Amino acid sequence: MSKKDPRFFPNPSEPCPCGSGKILAQCCRHFDGTVFKEPSPIRPPGPRTGYSHPRCYLNFTQNCCSKISGEHFVSHGILRRIGQSVSVMGAPWLTAGEIRTYATKNLTANILCVRHNSAFSDVDNAAIQLFKFVNEVHAVLSQRSLSRKKKFYLVSGDDLEMWATKALLGLFHSQPKDTTLAEYSIDRSVVEKLIRTARLPKGCGIYLNARLGTRRVHNENEITVGTITLKDEMRLIGLVIDIGSVSVDFLMDPFGVSSLQRSKKLYRPAHLMFEGRGKAHVIFICWSSDHCKDGVVFTLNKR
Ligand SMILES: [Zn+2]
Ligand SMILES: [Zn+2]
Repeated sequence: MSKKDPRFFPNPSEPCPCGSGKILAQCCRHFDGTVFKEPSPIRPPGPRTGYSHPRCYLNFTQNCCSKISGEHFVSHGILRRIGQSVSVMGAPWLTAGEIRTYATKNLTANILCVRHNSAFSDVDNAAIQLFKFVNEVHAVLSQRSLSRKKKFYLVSGDDLEMWATKALLGLFHSQPKDTTLAEYSIDRSVVEKLIRTARLPKGCGIYLNARLGTRRVHNENEITVGTITLKDEMRLIGLVIDIGSVSVDFLMDPFGVSSLQRSKKLYRPAHLMFEGRGKAHVIFICWSSDHCKDGVVFTLNKR
């Protein structure tokens, strides 16, 4: 990992780097020429139903439908790509460093109504795209080819954070068996406010684990989710999410922001660049509120 300027001069008539299939000029290009992907809504469409499903954790919004969804907390779209298991690491019920792989079906919990779950489908898609992009870039870089053309990708950071919120709430509410997760709590007022406003509290969100010079191993098609807790308060405040070589901390509760070792983290990074064999590809992450202008470079080791 190191730092470098990604130099991005997009051609408006080329396909949009967000992967929509449209050309950039008709997709994520603002009138001022900048490239920006708008955050997706997380509120179910149409008027409020007035119904609260007793098993839906978003029932405080009184906007449920009567059917419960069997969605996994990590999102089915990602699990379909990984296979049928997900690694859970560093959870409060595991000893330090222990990684356990759970079969998808064991962690499927009926914790969101269908209406609320489908309202999250666009933010799920952002996480699926990032997962796909990271794996694609690694695959392209490890192939021998003569093409030196830089590839650009674009994801909405706001959407990634809402997806992480859904993953955190999902993990908490699914209460996997034989765990002590039930002894932990989350701050309900934080959750209620963030769902209503679709904004995280100040200082919360994604922090890229970016200690320069660190070696990271890319495990293809692997996603690892761990929890960040405050032991004294028995409070669940965030997640550690590893997607291939990319590791981020996600903080939902402002209570934990001060205890974070910020010097080794990059708050809402602007890009992830991957280079190797004379090629470089860049995943841009766009943010609608305060973020840093920097990104990091992952350099593929020659083998
Ligand atoms: Zn686009
Ligand atoms: Zn609901």
